[in-house]
This record gives sequence, structure tokens and C-alpha cells, in this order.
Amino acid sequence: MANNQKEECIFCKIITGEIPCYKIYENKFILAFLDVNPISDGHTLVIPKKHYENVLDCEDKYLEETIKAIKIITNHYKKNLKCTAFNIANNSGKDAGQVVNHLHFHIIPRYKNDGLISWPTRNCECEKLSDLCNKLSLIHKK
Ligand code: 5GP
Ligand code: ZN
Repeated sequence: MANNQKEECIFCKIITGEIPCYKIYENKFILAFLDVNPISDGHTLVIPKKHYENVLDCEDKYLEETIKAIKIITNHYKKNLKCTAFNIANNSGKDAGQVVNHLHFHIIPRYKNDGLISWPTRNCECEKLSDLCNKLSLIHKK
């Protein structure tokens, strides 16, 4: 296995062909394949061909190529699957639901009245939003 891959990682094994997959698209940087437990028809995973754990440690070039591939694939699916929308999701870290520790983006095709439930939302006081913004904003304050 190449030294930019991890022996125990199932997605690295998919990249090398040790574990089979239903390939949708690939280039020098990324691979896209069907999820074995699809949330909807066409549920696809897009992964960098180098082992990164999640968004936080991924080189910008690989992130860029992953997002570019997502655009190509979603446009292709829109025409060929007749889906009307997409969820593009990434779980970065165990507490966010990441199970496979090789960076991957989920492309989940959505269909009108498909019964899937989107994110729950909650109300938040302006004061709290303002406090959070003061704490977190990366925009330089004069
Ligand atoms: P996570 O929860 O880490 O964001 O999502 C991992 C995804 O990988 C799950 O949707 C799961 O169905 C998928 N998955 C896990 N193992 C395999 C595998 O061996 N092959 C494929 N194609 N998908 C996998
Ligand atoms: Zn890996």
C-alpha cells in the first residue's frame, strides 16, 4: 500500500482495489463510488485518493478537487436520476457521526416528497448570536 494510505482504512482499500466498489467517477485526486447502505437511490461517497482523516487535516488541493468532483457528479445525477435536489454532507469527527476515518463527502440525491427528514432547527436569541459572533468572527475588527 502506498505510504499516503493507511493499512487498516477501508476506504484506502477501496482506492487500491483490495475492497470492491461501484465506481462512479475518478481522476488523479479523487474517487467517487456508491455507498453500500444508501440513504436514497444514487447515494455516493466522494473521497480523496490520499488518506486524510477529515476536513481539518486535508490539503487544500484535495479539498478543491473533491468539491469540483461533487459539482460534476451532482450535475450528472440531476440529468440521469431525475432527482430534484441534493444533500451534500460531511461528518468530521466521531461526535458528528463520522464512522469511517477517511475524509468523505456524501452526495444524497433528494426527490420531491421522498420522506427523508432534514436538519432540525431551533430559535436562538439575537444576544446569543451576537456573543458567539464576537467570540468566533475571523474578520479583523478595527
Ligand atoms: P460516515 O458515517 O463515516 O460519514 O459514513 C460512512 C459511510 O460509508 C456510510 O454511509 C456507510 O454506508 C459507507 N460505507 C462503509 N463501509 C463501506 C464500504 O465498504 N463500501 C462502501 N461503498 N460504503 C461503505
Ligand atoms: Zn484511508
